[in-house]
Amino acid sequence: MIFAELALLPEGWVKQVRISVADGHITGVDKAAAPQPTDTRVSALLPALSNLHSHTFQRAMAGMTEHRIAGRDSFWTWRDLMYRFMDRLTPEQMEAIAALVFMEMQETGFAAVGEFHYVHHQTGGGTYANIAELSNRIFAAASLTGIGLTHLPVLYSYGGVGQQPLSTGQLRFGNTVDSFAALLEAARAAALALPADTRVGIAPHSLRATCPADLARVLPLAAGNPIHIHVAEQPKEVADVTAWLGARPVEWLLANTPIGADWCPIHATHMTGQETAALAKSGAVAGLCPITEANLGDGPFNGPEWLAANGAFGIGSDSNVRISLTEELRTLEYSQRLRDIARNVMVPAEGSVGQFLYVGAARGGAQALGRNAGQIAVGTLADLTAIDLSHPSLCALHPDHILDGLAFAAPDTVVTDLWSAGRHQVKQGRHIHREQIIAGWRTAVKGLIDAV
Ligand SMILES: [Zn+2]
Repeated sequence: MIFAELALLPEGWVKQVRISVADGHITGVDKAAAPQPTDTRVSALLPALSNLHSHTFQRAMAGMTEHRIAGRDSFWTWRDLMYRFMDRLTPEQMEAIAALVFMEMQETGFAAVGEFHYVHHQTGGGTYANIAELSNRIFAAASLTGIGLTHLPVLYSYGGVGQQPLSTGQLRFGNTVDSFAALLEAARAAALALPADTRVGIAPHSLRATCPADLARVLPLAAGNPIHIHVAEQPKEVADVTAWLGARPVEWLLANTPIGADWCPIHATHMTGQETAALAKSGAVAGLCPITEANLGDGPFNGPEWLAANGAFGIGSDSNVRISLTEELRTLEYSQRLRDIARNVMVPAEGSVGQFLYVGAARGGAQALGRNAGQIAVGTLADLTAIDLSHPSLCALHPDHILDGLAFAAPDTVVTDLWSAGRHQVKQGRHIHREQIIAGWRTAVKGLIDAV
């Protein structure tokens, strides 16, 4: 049982709430309750967010691509370095890196992650003895950390629009629809050993890495699980797809696929007003990755028009250059303020920006990962996080301003506890397996950097 001095329930902040949890789910929410001696007591309890987009291995590159070189650095030169780096990555290193990333996510308040997993094969493109070897490494990291996992094996078949062959740097990603189906089947079989909240969806990487015929064949393999795809992250990608298919990427998806509430278009940065309104109305969750989008110079999301169309959204940490839930929220809002020369942009009508962003990202993120979560209510998964209201950044705030304090003023260290589907993995601000996970990471990255 968890006793919270204050809890954010669907109707708002409520005092003295006692939460019962069984089999990973919330089974009771008692208001105006009294704490019992065996309860885990927390200051303020929130529904924990789902991090809807991550490539864990990229965490090991953080800090290595911020050095200006001759000529103009771009997303595409960043990608070249990522390919060289990834060329050396071993299964053991991938597992250790993923464990650190999942731990960091939980310590910042994410209960679950959508791992958009596209490195499948050995250097040179040969398959491992088990075609799902690297998916199994992600599963091992999820088991160690206890994070809720929606695994998203990626179909990556071509090196660019128009079915160009894979480049040398892309061989570890490559699958045909048939080999992808075999990989997916192996991953789903292995995932049965994980907790019941685990999901295995699919992720056609992007329109540039697939083609219309392959996409039509792969979509049924989702079988009711989430479908994620990178879309419209870069102007060049939009121009390339338009030249090839005669329509902008979002425009093409809307016209040629059953895109809807089980889809999560990642980034969706460069959309026309018409695309923005139509995609929002489809029910798809916009997968926003504000820190990475800023780091890569992608450009700002079209927030005001998305919200005007009641679009769903969630937050992902993508490249994992920095893992901070609060910084993701504030970077999203600040990207809008800087573009529009305005304040308090990411809230329709009037109200708290922090609360709108937090509650929206909790619900949208859970939807994108196929998790019955995102609010504190009986019957939902116990994805919960607790923050310390006695922290200097929060202690003076009226309840109506707590989530503004969290989003704009607080450090990540205000997180005291985290439960992923009832698994109490963060206590007193630290993951329960912290030392083991960090030791594994140190060994992995040292080996990786020595090799590069
Ligand atoms: Zn991504």
